[in-house]
Amino acid sequence: MLLAVEQLNVAYGAIKAVQDLSLEVGEGEIVALLGANGAGKTTTLRTISGLIRPRSGRIVYDGRVITQWPAHRIVAAGLVHVPEGRRVFAPLTVRENLELGAYTVRSGGDVEARMREVFARFPRLEERQHQLAGTLSGGEQQMLAIGRALMTRPRLLLLDEPSLGLAPLLVREIFATIKEINQRDGVTILLVEQNAHQALQIAHRAYVLESGRMALEGPADRLIDDPRVQAAYLGA
Ligand code: ATP
Repeated sequence: MLLAVEQLNVAYGAIKAVQDLSLEVGEGEIVALLGANGAGKTTTLRTISGLIRPRSGRIVYDGRVITQWPAHRIVAAGLVHVPEGRRVFAPLTVRENLELGAYTVRSGGDVEARMREVFARFPRLEERQHQLAGTLSGGEQQMLAIGRALMTRPRLLLLDEPSLGLAPLLVREIFATIKEINQRDGVTILLVEQNAHQALQIAHRAYVLESGRMALEGPADRLIDDPRVQAAYLGA
């Protein structure tokens, strides 16, 4: 396993956001983490990436216990979080945003090589490299947020609601891009989504959270047909 979350408990004061949660992500997988609003999906990702400390439980990444590591050390180890809401730096250009993504890279030549890789994946970002990020469309900002994460050459990407607020055509494009990043670039992906149907179409396996607890897990093609998933998340 590349990532194992073991018996995780996370609380905000008296609110127990995540309870006894365990999940695993194997190298090369796309794993979806599904659930209704407030189920604890974002809290889980923020805890894995070192932004929140759990009350108890362990996070094991690449054979090492990272539960108490600072966030920057986790990023440097190749575990990179793309937060919900495409938090790009609005007053900076596309190129400057990407350069910031490579802050762990020492040589300037390396930064340029990585930027060429990101531009190959997202030609639209190359065309708009001198445009201010705040003036990009929603879909372009999501591409930039993912592109910025790719500048670190991650091994495991945590994606929080990448399709949120995008028009249907762009939603399809983003899911296709995520699949390519997994298949062609070999990046392992843990994907949080409200858009359960599309997430299950690209994922290998999925977990369903309910009120901070794991309710269901299994191969994506089995969950897509599970009446409980259909009733709760697929609008059946
Ligand atoms: P959404 O899809 O709406 O983002 P989610 O599944 O990502 O939901 P979380 O954001 O992890 O859910 O929230 C889990 C629970 O923790 C919710 O009850 C939420 O209100 C609560 N919560 C989240 N962040 C905080 C915070 N900073 N302080 C207090 N409570 C919080």
